[in-house]
Formats: sequence, C-alpha cells, structure tokens
Amino acid sequence: MDKAHTHDVIIIGGGISGTALLYLLAQYSDINDVMLLEKYNVIANVNSHGRNNSQTLHCGDIETNYTLEKALQVKASANMVVRYAVGLKNKDEILYKYSKMVIGVGDKEVRQLRERFREFGPHYPGMQLLEKDQIEKVEPAVINGRKEDIVALAVLDEYTAVNFQALSQSFVEQATSVKGKTVEVMLNSKVSKIKKSANGYTVKTSKGNHEAKFVVVSSGGHSLLFAHRMGYGQEFSCLPMAGSFYFAPDVLKGKVYTVQNDKLPFAAIHGDPDVLVPGKTRLGPTALALPVLERYNWKTLPEFLYILKLDINVVKTLWGLLRVADIRNYLFKNMCFEIPFIRRHLFLNDARKIIPGLKLKDLTFAKKTGGIRPVMIDKKEHCLHLGEAKLNTGHGLIFNMTPSPGATSCLGNAEKDLEIITDYLGASFDNERLKRDLK
Ligand SMILES: Cc1cc2nc3c(=O)[nH]c(=O)nc-3n(C[C@H](O)[C@H](O)[C@H](O)COP(=O)(O)OP(=O)(O)OC[C@H]3O[C@@H](n4cnc5c(N)ncnc54)[C@H](O)[C@@H]3O)c2cc1C
Repeated sequence: MDKAHTHDVIIIGGGISGTALLYLLAQYSDINDVMLLEKYNVIANVNSHGRNNSQTLHCGDIETNYTLEKALQVKASANMVVRYAVGLKNKDEILYKYSKMVIGVGDKEVRQLRERFREFGPHYPGMQLLEKDQIEKVEPAVINGRKEDIVALAVLDEYTAVNFQALSQSFVEQATSVKGKTVEVMLNSKVSKIKKSANGYTVKTSKGNHEAKFVVVSSGGHSLLFAHRMGYGQEFSCLPMAGSFYFAPDVLKGKVYTVQNDKLPFAAIHGDPDVLVPGKTRLGPTALALPVLERYNWKTLPEFLYILKLDINVVKTLWGLLRVADIRNYLFKNMCFEIPFIRRHLFLNDARKIIPGLKLKDLTFAKKTGGIRPVMIDKKEHCLHLGEAKLNTGHGLIFNMTPSPGATSCLGNAEKDLEIITDYLGASFDNERLKRDLK
C-alpha cells in the first residue's frame, strides 16, 4: 500500500542505533511523526543481538587500544546507557554488574598497565591496580598455573555488560508509549531504495512506499550500500570483520580483557560471562575478514562487492595492512580459527593467556555466534577508519556506520543525529531535560 502521508523522520534499521534515535526523538524533541523500518520480524536481530557482540559496556578503562580522549568520549556515552536503564522496571534484563579487568602479562605489558593507571586513574575513580595476589582473589582462574608477572587494571563494582537487544526493545517500548505523538515501528519492511522527492525522500520497501522530510539510515553494514547507491561516501569502501567466539565452562567471574597489540587495528580477545547463556564463559572475538555485509547471510555478498568498489586505492590500503608482519600473521591465524578440527587447538593457545589452566576439552566453538564489524576503508588516506562514522549529507539524510563500540555509543551517537535533525527541520529538543535524565 503506498502512503502519500509525509512523516517527519524515517529511520531505516531497527538495531541499537536506530532504536536509540527513535527514543530520543520521541522523548525529547517536538517532532511529532517518526517511523522506523526494520527488515526482520524482530528488533535488533543482527549485530545488536547479544549473541553477535561481546555485550560489553565499553568505558575506555580496560580497552588499552583507546587514547584517553577516546576513552572519555566512550565513557560519556556509556554513562547515558546506564542512566537510561537504571531506572527501568526491567533493568535486570538489560544491565549486568560483573567485575572487569585488563591483564598485563610479562614485563612490557606490566609496565604499560602501571603507566596507564597513572594516566587514566584520575579519570576513573573506580579503577584499581591489582597485583597478582589481589587478582587471584577476584579471578582465581587467571592466576592458577601462571608463571609470568601479571598486574591488572580492574573495576569491581559497576555495570559492565548489556543485553543490547533488550535495550533496543526497551527504547522501542518507551518511544511508542509517548503520548500525543505518532511513533510507528514497521517490522518485516525491507527498504530497497531511497529516492529524492518533492517533500524530502521516498523510501521504497517490501511493504509499500513511505515519504519523509528526513531520513536516517542506521542499517549496519548496509548503510554504506545505501549511501553509495545515492552517490554519497564514495571515498569509503568497507572491510567487514567478522568475530567468532568459543565457549568454556564458567571459569571467569567477570570480564577479563588482554592488552592490545598496538600494531593491530582489531580488538584483542577477552573472556566474558555470557548474559544469554548462564554458566558459560565466552572467549573471543576472533577477527575474520568476510565478503558479506551480514554474518551468515551469503545473499549479502553482491552487496559487499558493490560497496567494496575494488580499485587501486582499496588495493593500496589493504596492501599497506598486509605489509605489517603482525597484521599479516594475525589475519592468517584468525582464518585458521575458523577451520574445523584444528581451530580449537589454535584458539586454546590464545585463550590460555587469559586462563592458563584451560583444557582443550573445555573449549567449544560457539556456532552461529558473532556478527560483523563493517570497518570503513578511507580510500583517500589509505587507512582503516576505526570506530563509528557518520555521513551527514546536509540534505535531510544521514548514514550511520557503526562498528565497535557502536552499541555502547548508541545514545551519544543518537544525540548527534537529534541535533542535526531538529536543526534541519526547524524543530527543537529539550536539551536540559535530556542532560538531567541521561548525563
Ligand atoms: C563480534 C562483535 C563484538 C562486538 N562487541 C561489542 C561490545 O561488546 N560492545 C559494543 O558496544 N559494541 C560491540 N560491537 C559493535 C556493536 O555490535 C555494533 O556497533 C552495533 O550493534 C551496531 O548497531 P546498529 O544498530 O548500528 O547495527 P545493527 O545492529 O547491525 O542493526 C542494523 C539493522 O538494520 C536492519 N537493516 C539492514 N538493512 C535493511 C534494509 N534494507 N531495510 C530495513 N532494515 C534493514 C538490520 O536488519 C538490522 O536490524 C561488536 C560487534 C561485533 C561484530
């Protein structure tokens, strides 16, 4: 059924990014008519599903690949998530408190973490530097059988894990219950095309067409596809990095991260209690380049090829990565992590950096678990653009690309969209109330 009615805003994608924006628009702006379109029959079934990400609320304290500046930005967004969820009746289905720590193993990493504690400690009042015997009290399995020197930066009493699908569903519930507004969520509505129209844009879906003055595309890996089809973001290509996980019995009580190798642009593996599979520790993610925009969906292969736009600049960027021995070896090792029969043996070696006493029989490959981080390739600078990217066309159309830590940053990122949208439509939002509630 075609609809002539023009919505103020249409959001494409019902993951954590799209639903966070739906919530902020409904709750804090004077915009009256918002629609969200999602191709599946449930909210947040792709990368924002707890099965497909690490469920970590990233605060920058244990992520050694973050600079202090980046860490503080992420921490501010993480706080918004906690402020939002902590007052909800179903808070316990969304937020989880586990201890978390990053371990430094061996002289170099131990020195690095001590130094990091001096720099980051003043900004993170809950952060502690734990020596070996103190770590043992919190995480015995990390020390059991360990010969090397070890220290940890730890936070023991904060919300550290999130069921991002439950959070997305909560955003939708809250947004659609705001009185006096039309907030529609259309499931099973796959968008095939966005086209400029007299009033803004026509959004073509499997269930008919919709009109909107403003369109926000938060479709994970597919955002860049829509952008390219409309002639935007041609300076970017995409390297989809899949992450797989392994299960072990619940040997860890909380989250245990490892120090990042600074030559590697992908996060180091960690061990986490799984909020969806009680009684298990989940280890990973691995980092596997896959030619698809959605994990386990090979129909997205042609779409990946469309946005890859393999040219000399993409080749130069990828070649630049492969020339670094650490990256080359890491990518090769991660490919091997996917090969049945040998993968558990290979992964065990890495997992023992976290749990030295882990046995092969304890490790199982987590099937159909782990999503895709659509990492952007900057074709002009010949480098990877890590973290989120936003293409604001300035014409009532935004494209959000959200690799890690996009789920943690959902409200911070949505706030930026809220400002752009209200400004463009000549509308406003209650910034004071938003600050009071969420900051
Ligand atoms: C292995 C792994 C571990 C991660 N761990 C963490 C972590 O611990 N903490 C963290 O903060 N982040 C983590 N991330 C990143 C996080 O999962 C993502 O940043 C986040 O889920 C992105 O949310 P999104 O809503 O932008 O995209 P998605 O969750 O991918 O949602 C996009 C939505 O758009 C819909 N869609 C796509 N195309 C169309 C179309 N044509 N029409 C209609 N709808 C469409 C999809 O169905 C989907 O629902 C991890 C990612 C991976 C892969």
